[in-house]
Amino acid sequence: MTMFDLTGRVAVVTGGNGGIGLGIAQALASSGCNVSIWGRNAEKNKAAAASMAAGPGKVDTQICDVTSPASVAEAMQATLDTFGRVDGCFANAGIGGGGRKPFIERTEEEWRTMFATNLDGVFHAFQAAARHMTARAEAGDAFGRLVATSSLASLFGTARNEHYAGTKAALNALCRALAVELARYGVTANAILPGWIKSDMTAGIMGNEKFVANVMPRIPVRRFGEPSDFGGIAVYLMSKASSYHTADCFVIDGGYTAF
Ligand code: NDP
Repeated sequence: MTMFDLTGRVAVVTGGNGGIGLGIAQALASSGCNVSIWGRNAEKNKAAAASMAAGPGKVDTQICDVTSPASVAEAMQATLDTFGRVDGCFANAGIGGGGRKPFIERTEEEWRTMFATNLDGVFHAFQAAARHMTARAEAGDAFGRLVATSSLASLFGTARNEHYAGTKAALNALCRALAVELARYGVTANAILPGWIKSDMTAGIMGNEKFVANVMPRIPVRRFGEPSDFGGIAVYLMSKASSYHTADCFVIDGGYTAF
């Protein structure tokens, strides 16, 4: 058994049916981890599961809207019924700040919608997972991994997208707080901060020549990220090798922030 063999482990990936979440789910399954993909869209869930059919980890899908605590509780119970345990929760589901606009024009509804998905959704998923992980630790099986997909927007002054930035900065703080609170249960908590990654969320902006001409020279590796670029960090965080690595923010951006 290698350091990164995840055989017998079970991970939930919210928003795992596309983009970065699918990159995470595929890498986990290819390392032997059983994976439950949670997303709202049944067709996307099905296609994602098909892309992981080779395993060796098994795949389960749940229709879940992370904004709803009831939907998350249902998905968690169904995942437990399928796999018997949950060792990792990758709270990755999120919506982007497509509607960039001046702060003084931000509507109450836009603000609430952003927070309902990007922050409340993580709260619901992490809490459901942590309840299971802490109970299991009390029974002598202490192991858990909480991983939130944050963003570089949590570090930069992302003008006209302040609601998105606010949710992501809150995730970094949430992970640090949980890392301290849950360490005694063998549960680590970390945030992943992607740079510019190709996905449905960024397809529009990456099709804009002016944007590409402006941003590409500032990415030292000279390409946009792919969802598969998140596989390595996901496997590491899910493995025993990361047991002493908690409360961190992993920037995965091709060097963008260093430039
Ligand atoms: P995608 O739009 O490709 O994926 C978003 C995923 O979230 C989909 O699987 C979608 O599934 C799911 N989702 C959205 N809302 C909900 C909901 N209410 N309940 C359950 N699932 C939901 O985008 P990315 O892969 O790019 O984004 C993934 C994460 O990465 C997000 O948190 C995003 O903020 C973050 N990120 C992305 C960056 C990038 O450059 N792409 C940069 C920095 C951060 P479904 O359609 O079935 O609801």
